[in-house]
Amino acid sequence: MQSQLLINGQLIAGQGETLPVINPATGEVIVLVAEASTQQVDQAVLAADAAFATWGQTTPKERAEHLLKLADVIDEHAAAFAELESLNCGKPYHCVLNDELPAVADVFRFFAGASRCLSGLAAGEYLAGHTSMIRRDPLGVVASIAPWNYPLMMAAWKLAPALAAGNCVVIKPSEQTPLTTFKLAELAAGIFPPGVLNVLFGRGASVGDVLTGHSKVRMVSLTGSIATGEHIIAHTAPGIKRTHMELGGKAPVLVFDDADLDQVVEGIRTFGFYNAGQDCTAACRIYAQKGIYPRLVQALGAAVASLKIGPPEDSSTELGPLITAQHLERVVGFVERAKALPHVQVVTGGEKVNGPGFYFQPTLLAGARQEDEIVQREVFGPVVTVTPFDDEAQVLAWANDSNYGLASSLWTRDVGRAHRLSARLQYGCTWVNTHFMLISEMPHGGQKLSGYGKDMSMYGLEDYTVIRHVMFKH
Ligand code: NAD
Repeated sequence: MQSQLLINGQLIAGQGETLPVINPATGEVIVLVAEASTQQVDQAVLAADAAFATWGQTTPKERAEHLLKLADVIDEHAAAFAELESLNCGKPYHCVLNDELPAVADVFRFFAGASRCLSGLAAGEYLAGHTSMIRRDPLGVVASIAPWNYPLMMAAWKLAPALAAGNCVVIKPSEQTPLTTFKLAELAAGIFPPGVLNVLFGRGASVGDVLTGHSKVRMVSLTGSIATGEHIIAHTAPGIKRTHMELGGKAPVLVFDDADLDQVVEGIRTFGFYNAGQDCTAACRIYAQKGIYPRLVQALGAAVASLKIGPPEDSSTELGPLITAQHLERVVGFVERAKALPHVQVVTGGEKVNGPGFYFQPTLLAGARQEDEIVQREVFGPVVTVTPFDDEAQVLAWANDSNYGLASSLWTRDVGRAHRLSARLQYGCTWVNTHFMLISEMPHGGQKLSGYGKDMSMYGLEDYTVIRHVMFKH
């Protein structure tokens, strides 16, 4: 199992403190890995900075060829990647192989093509006797920080646009889930010139702060929690670095009386519980109009109870464990506090599962109120609440009454209502009669405390460039 850092094209062991990488399905240690030392972080950034002199001057076609090669080797090693991700995250193997790996390779392919299609405003004579043009150029060294919920996919979302735009990258996966990023490092080392892509390992305090604070780092891209986002923004402020923040979410799901009940139930069963609900767009905050509310609670309760918890390697498993014992206790805390409220009913689930591994039952809580903690805060587990509402105005106000602004959905057969509300929901994405669908061509990103900047799409590529004006005197 590859567990070394990638610095300047070389795979080398970390020289910092050693940390265990845990299998969440059993609680056992998979491997011990040494963090990068401060000196190694410095070496990685300096290698990226040196490589930028050449990589930043390559043509889009050349960069695209590298990204396409990486996509091809990801496809070739898809089963091995899926095994590692499943082992390290507890995700059902078949889900990683069939859902995540094709999407990961597609992100590299999309940005390979996108890099060749970047355009600026038309050049022209805006001052008599002078021609102006707009350029979009790379920034230099980008530090990318990834979370544990989709380690390889988040690495792809960060690496592909940054490299496609001509930047060099130092990426730090979550200290809990580095294994697929290490494998990617091994494969990428044979494709990219030394220093273009560097992989570190370690915690925020020991490695992250040194990396993001490094004077040669021009941009920091984070997918993670709001607390980490706030910290990085403050930490990088003295260096006036560009930041790109993909933070938490608490997606509202607005279900109207005229919605197709079967589709809603199937949708929430799938999109509220995928990845054990550890998803920033999870369909977790349901608002149901009073006419459909009792039928929805009953049907959804039965559907959620039918979700199959099990070992990640079992092809019938739908729900794996949570990522760590600590995160499991956090989810337990949220659910226990909600259960203590007299108006909240546990329709199904509500308990952790005994035995090895960090499993929590798929849980549906009905009767939750707008002001309840369980409605307001991101649980990041297999826990969905349902709140009854009266009318459009009320549910729109409740849906927008949130610190988060990442994803939302509404379910109705009324086209006018769908347009009216989707225009007014304060979320980076609104799905109508579906949820959770992400595609490489469309932007993903939030507003409010969910952050700013876009992943995927041409907007994602543009985020990793700087706009420049070049003027020619005739
Ligand atoms: P986290 O913030 O604890 O960790 C994310 C990453 O930040 C890890 O690599 C961690 O080591 C690193 N980090 C922590 N402190 C740091 C520091 N001082 N300097 C540099 N790096 C530091 O988040 P998590 O628990 O890994 O992930 C879950 C969170 O991520 C949830 O809130 C979830 O909503 C969010 N998330 C958002 C999106 C999105 O697209 N918006 C996608 C996935 C996850």
